[in-house]
Amino acid sequence: MKRVRLLVFNAALGVLDYRVPEGMAVEHGSVVIAPLGPRQVLGVVWEADRLSAQDVPESKLRPLLEVLPVPPLPAQLRRLIEWTADYYCAPLSSVARMALGSMAALRGGGTATEYRLTGAEPARLTPQRAAALDALQGEQASIRELAELASVSEGVLRGMVGAGLLEPVTVDLDRPYPRARPEFAVPELSEGQQAAADTFVAAVREHRFAPFLLDGVTGSGKTECYFEAVAEALRLGRQVLVLLPEIALTENFLRRFEQRFGVPPVLWHSSLKSSERRRAWRAVISGEAQVVVGARSSLFLPYADLGLIVVDEAHEVSFKQDDGVRYNARDVAVIRAKFEAIPVVLASATPALESMQLAEAGIYKKIELPDRFGGAMLPDIRIVDLRQEPPERGHWIAPRLVEEMKERLARGEQSLLFLNRRGYAPLTLCRNCGYRFQCPNCTAWLVEHRFSKRLACHHCGHDVPVPDACPECGTADCLVACGPGVERIADEVAEVLPEARTALVTSDTMNNPEAIGEFVAMAEGGAIDVIIGTQLVTKGYHFPELTLVGVIDADLGLEGGDLRAAERTYQQIAQVAGRAGRGEKPGEVLIQTRHPEAAVIAALANGDRDAFYAAETESRRDAGAPPFGRWAAIIVSSEDQAEALAAARAIGGTAPNLPDMLVLGPAPAPLSLLRGRHRFRLLINARRSAELQKALRDWLEPLQFPKGVRVNIDVDPYSF
Ligand code: ADP
Ligand code: ZN
Repeated sequence: MKRVRLLVFNAALGVLDYRVPEGMAVEHGSVVIAPLGPRQVLGVVWEADRLSAQDVPESKLRPLLEVLPVPPLPAQLRRLIEWTADYYCAPLSSVARMALGSMAALRGGGTATEYRLTGAEPARLTPQRAAALDALQGEQASIRELAELASVSEGVLRGMVGAGLLEPVTVDLDRPYPRARPEFAVPELSEGQQAAADTFVAAVREHRFAPFLLDGVTGSGKTECYFEAVAEALRLGRQVLVLLPEIALTENFLRRFEQRFGVPPVLWHSSLKSSERRRAWRAVISGEAQVVVGARSSLFLPYADLGLIVVDEAHEVSFKQDDGVRYNARDVAVIRAKFEAIPVVLASATPALESMQLAEAGIYKKIELPDRFGGAMLPDIRIVDLRQEPPERGHWIAPRLVEEMKERLARGEQSLLFLNRRGYAPLTLCRNCGYRFQCPNCTAWLVEHRFSKRLACHHCGHDVPVPDACPECGTADCLVACGPGVERIADEVAEVLPEARTALVTSDTMNNPEAIGEFVAMAEGGAIDVIIGTQLVTKGYHFPELTLVGVIDADLGLEGGDLRAAERTYQQIAQVAGRAGRGEKPGEVLIQTRHPEAAVIAALANGDRDAFYAAETESRRDAGAPPFGRWAAIIVSSEDQAEALAAARAIGGTAPNLPDMLVLGPAPAPLSLLRGRHRFRLLINARRSAELQKALRDWLEPLQFPKGVRVNIDVDPYSF
């Protein structure tokens, strides 16, 4: 009889042993269905000596039911899953789940049925059908997805199928992706680019672990360099993963990829349609998907034969996942490259301090591109001291910046204003009684969004229409907006430059690929004079006519005392400044601040990146922060505040007393109320030498908490 150990997708049970029935072929990594009580569970066959399980006698073992028709998860991926679970103190099954597509993908390829509008235009329509007809133009998806898109029930759509307004379409999930061609349009590289590209190409060919930090100023042509490595992997028939921090950036990337390789890559992100997910996942595991471009979740896919990983804009905070498995995709990408014995390229104009340190220590090989491609100059950066040059009352753009914008407009050039705050105003209050609009579920103000006429919480999504009167004192027309958001800056631009054509770029306005594509086309075609945006406009774009960047509030990110505040501010401003002067005309950047003496601001103004890294290195060393020491956070939450506090105190009371680990707290977490849950936090500061994860497990695993309490561990937390 053959006995196998399964990692089962049930967080409470984790690992169970089963019997392989006569005639069934399984190997390590096979994805199977097994009985569990009266139900069935999904599981992956794992090496028995790597996972411990309860000792069940042979006679009690139940037989596996079925092996699913997909190749087994490769051994390197199983090692990556183990590593991630161990390092981030996460359940193995939660990590492994990220490697599996949907149940449907595991069940096989074949076909799926989707629906689209037939084009029929009946004379009379119910309001719901009319709304659906409007919302579903050009869409094709399952009934469930269409219902979500159109905000109507599935019943309404089924009725429309019956009435001949929607028609079924059969989608072939096994249809091949078009083949990328490594020699489709080979660019002429600069000398520096060529040297970098040659190094990457050699590493791809040698099939060995090699981590690179591609440190190139904005506009240096980093993409073209790593595209040569992609081309080499294609020639060798091996797969490539390119991780991008945000889907919003992919539009631009896809276009460049297609120009270079003749076809678009395979996409992977959370808003793919279910049929696209199924098709992409199956192509990844079969090896048919040549190049996958995706958000952080594409890191755990079961590539058949990975030859290269690229992490573009590697410094971006969005590579850190903050719920579920709390991992940093940039770091795990390097680990995956190690298990796969392949090169990994971390590309950035403003690398994270940790990455710089690893390069300095010789662990990453640093490749520098110090000059912009084609001889373009880096922009001239100047400070606007808001204490000396204040904007007019109720305004946020200083006179000097207004003047510069006017000049650009007169010359037919573009300006970009950056403020990393969505909405109209961060706080709204009643002029009469002082009432402040606060989220009922979170420790946060509601943010006014003037275009949608709503007040919204940016943490939990709670939103309400802007009321006509104060809910507290009942006074009508009494609401005052405090402080600026990008919408308010857009209003101000309309006031001071009424003839300018403007575009507002935030996740509220650019929430689909079409909108982004349209914006990019207009900006490139010179149909926009002033772009006003949040961090969404800071990276990736290349607008040749853009010659002025204005940073509305450089101090914004420095508030709050976050450990990475300075680094994040530096990166954001350096990135947005990098949008200026990328073409033939030189660029200028004006930074509005009340703290021109702050080290970050001074380094930006002097273009002295080394000075910034040196200052930041010292302050991190003093704080025992990464890369010199390590942090972990334990977040304890419950809907009941007393219960959460009691649990946090119980954890604090059993903290281990270790010489290389310091436990701080519990204290209320920065967002002490989030989505209706009260949160307390303990911080652990450890020396690099400490066995942090083991200590955390030994400490927390024996503890028991009431049902409503959640305890989350965040290893290497990003912001706290
Ligand atoms: P980075 O990502 O380093 O900021 P990009 O890769 O966006 O820079 O390159 C900047 C611009 O220069 C892009 O428009 C790109 O198409 C162009 N470019 C870079 N290298 C080349 C090259 N070798 N030949 C032609 N154009 C190039
Ligand atoms: Zn909220």
